Amino acid sequence: MPALPQPLTRLLNATLPEGRTVDVGLRGGRVSEVVEAEGRAAIEGELDLKGWVLLTAPAEPHAHLDKALSWDQIAPPMGDLRLAIDSWRAHSHTMTTESIAERAFAAAQLMLRNGTTAVRTHVDLLVGPQPLRGVQALAGLRERLQGRMDLQITALAAPDTPDEIVHAALDLGVDLVGGAPHLAPDPLRDLTRLLAIAESRGVGTDIHTDEGLDGEPTLTYYAKAVQDWPADRIRSAGHCVRQGTLEPAELAQTVEAVKAADLGIISLPITNLYLQGWQHPVSTPRGLTALRAFLDAGVKIAGGADNLRDPFNPVGRGDALETASLLVTAGHLTLTEAYHAVSAGAREVLGLPPAGAFPGAVADFLAVRGNSLGEVVAAAPADRIVLYRGALVARSSVVHETAL
Ligand SMILES: [Zn+2]
Repeated sequence: MPALPQPLTRLLNATLPEGRTVDVGLRGGRVSEVVEAEGRAAIEGELDLKGWVLLTAPAEPHAHLDKALSWDQIAPPMGDLRLAIDSWRAHSHTMTTESIAERAFAAAQLMLRNGTTAVRTHVDLLVGPQPLRGVQALAGLRERLQGRMDLQITALAAPDTPDEIVHAALDLGVDLVGGAPHLAPDPLRDLTRLLAIAESRGVGTDIHTDEGLDGEPTLTYYAKAVQDWPADRIRSAGHCVRQGTLEPAELAQTVEAVKAADLGIISLPITNLYLQGWQHPVSTPRGLTALRAFLDAGVKIAGGADNLRDPFNPVGRGDALETASLLVTAGHLTLTEAYHAVSAGAREVLGLPPAGAFPGAVADFLAVRGNSLGEVVAAAPADRIVLYRGALVARSSVVHETAL
């Protein structure tokens, strides 16, 4: 493994999203001070960010690193969630721990290069013999990323995954219990089972919830079931697509329950824009959750990508700026709300300490060449500098040559 990167002592002349130009002191992996820029040149151990926008590093709240970058290999038909699951299951029995680890590492590296310093990944508990291959691959990856990137792992228990396999995954170091109760014949029963496993182990949950445009929603039930959990135990719900199609009165009740339970909501625009709406060729619904209603109520919101070039989403580039852009165009968030959802908001839902340009914060940053947040979200320049705990962990630069 390459040597751990050395921490920097100071960032100079950086433009913050609100427009101020500042110098940022770094010590012990945290921000020690943020002051108006002196305008001086950098010395050794410092980094001059003149002409760069300095952002809180993104966090990816919902990935599937075990599935990532498999589209070309599987060549699945395009289609909805059920079709994607069928394509994936047919392929997944051929994967080895090593092949999963290789793709997962490539996806993590891509995300880090784009500025993401923390990822929560789900992992399939695979059908057939050796159901824990994915868990072993991702637990190994977490070791490999140490000192460069944070990785949380959620066991994605399918409705037919036996309880003992979920427990075995937790024994191997998986952090959270997850699942997809909307795929079960009796969603509430499956959700109750998953929550009971988490409760018995004293761990948190991140459940794929109500990932469909219709059907009986379970989010309110989930919220009420976890409302008395200890404040520091993670509880979050991904997708929540059904909440985007609820009538206002029913939605209001759900929003209230989610807020009372401090349940984090994870919206995943790129994947749900792809997976939803195939049965609606006219006025195709967008398949996103009720973002504005949750935001207005003060619910914790995170934005993520979910899948990355696999049967569930053929496209994507592992870039939080892509997710932020979609939250603006498809979710109607402001630029500031959208970037917050993929960075500080995502960290909050992941239960990570705050990062960014204020004293005491974790020194995880993404600097992008540009002049404003709007420009950076719109153009997603490839020129980027990424800091993890105050140390330079990725740097990319592009050469443009144009006959104009
Ligand atoms: Zn997912």
